[in-house]
Amino acid sequence: MHATLQPAGSLAREAESDHVPETIDDMLELELALLRRGLDQRLAGSERCTCCNRTPLVGEHVYVYESGTIACELCREGRQEQPIGSRTVHGPEFGHTMRLTDRRAA
Ligand SMILES: [Zn+2]
Repeated sequence: MHATLQPAGSLAREAESDHVPETIDDMLELELALLRRGLDQRLAGSERCTCCNRTPLVGEHVYVYESGTIACELCREGRQEQPIGSRTVHGPEFGHTMRLTDRRAA
């Protein structure tokens, strides 16, 4: 009988080390998500640059000004005013991706 011992321990370690950078990304992503959510509530429904009237692409940054102006990356360049915040334009599913906490618990 030819028994093959599987080094389960080393496999598990490899899997864990694979997750280390991912976990750090998740933590950063979570912080950003919380920041974005605060702005999302303020800006609910408005996902359009008020300067050029363009709808920013998903993944593009938009900058928010105290006056209520939302500037896309291109329009921000020409503004004197300092933005009170920025956020990344995201798809409709973004706000519900809380599975990273589930992953760390499991
Ligand atoms: Zn613009």
